[in-house]
Amino acid sequence: MRLRILGSGSSGNSALLVTPGARVLVDAGFSVLRLGKLLAEAGESLQRIDAVFLTHEHGDHASGVEGLRRHPHIRLFANRATARAIEDGLSYRPAWQTFETGTRIRFRDLDVESFAVPHDAQDPVGFRFSTGPEQDFFEPRRSLAWVTDLGHAPPDLGDRLRACDVVVVEANHCPRLLQADARRSWSTKQRISGRHGHLSNEAARDLLAGVTGPRWRRIYLVHLSRDCNSPAAVAAAFAPARLGCELAIVGHGEGTEYYDLS
Ligand SMILES: [Zn+2]
Ligand SMILES: [Zn+2]
Repeated sequence: MRLRILGSGSSGNSALLVTPGARVLVDAGFSVLRLGKLLAEAGESLQRIDAVFLTHEHGDHASGVEGLRRHPHIRLFANRATARAIEDGLSYRPAWQTFETGTRIRFRDLDVESFAVPHDAQDPVGFRFSTGPEQDFFEPRRSLAWVTDLGHAPPDLGDRLRACDVVVVEANHCPRLLQADARRSWSTKQRISGRHGHLSNEAARDLLAGVTGPRWRRIYLVHLSRDCNSPAAVAAAFAPARLGCELAIVGHGEGTEYYDLS
């Protein structure tokens, strides 16, 4: 399984997961034009994408769904509440593949588990994507957790992250920069830092430091706020943490190279 984050931040989020049997996007928070360009840079194209798994309806995760009307071969996976909320803003009715939050579904050679996260959306989820046989010494199973857009870490989240090889989690804002930001109103700041907003750098660090999974190989810190965070602020917050694996901080609006989990 290979992961490539196409772009991350408050102005758009999407990542590409490639397995021997599937090419899927996690979220589609860019226009189809932009997604096409980002995929071309990755040596891929929308024609080759099989499915999109959507975490929630916010524009920075779902704004590309409108343009996917012209790509009906791409299956759109979301829970019912998210599908309904996205559909409200669309000019068409996608043929949704709906799942129940908290269940595990199979798509080609991928097992996809969804789980609820606390965020100000209809039914926001995180995902765990796994591929490979359950027990095979020569070809071990690989798992990736995807958790962005959550105001706090629910109690069962640590267990979900522990058994993964790669964890993608948001480090949204630096509380000091958020409080000092002159462009955001008090109520917006309350929403962002609230229990159903976004994880601060420190909250992300404490979540991960409280888990430190034995299999972790790399942690991606994503969804950085453009105005209220920076890679340097994330690095400073994480400096005292002993996570025992690589840390990749993805700057606002940036993507990554491919990372091979196999
Ligand atoms: Zn978001
Ligand atoms: Zn959101």
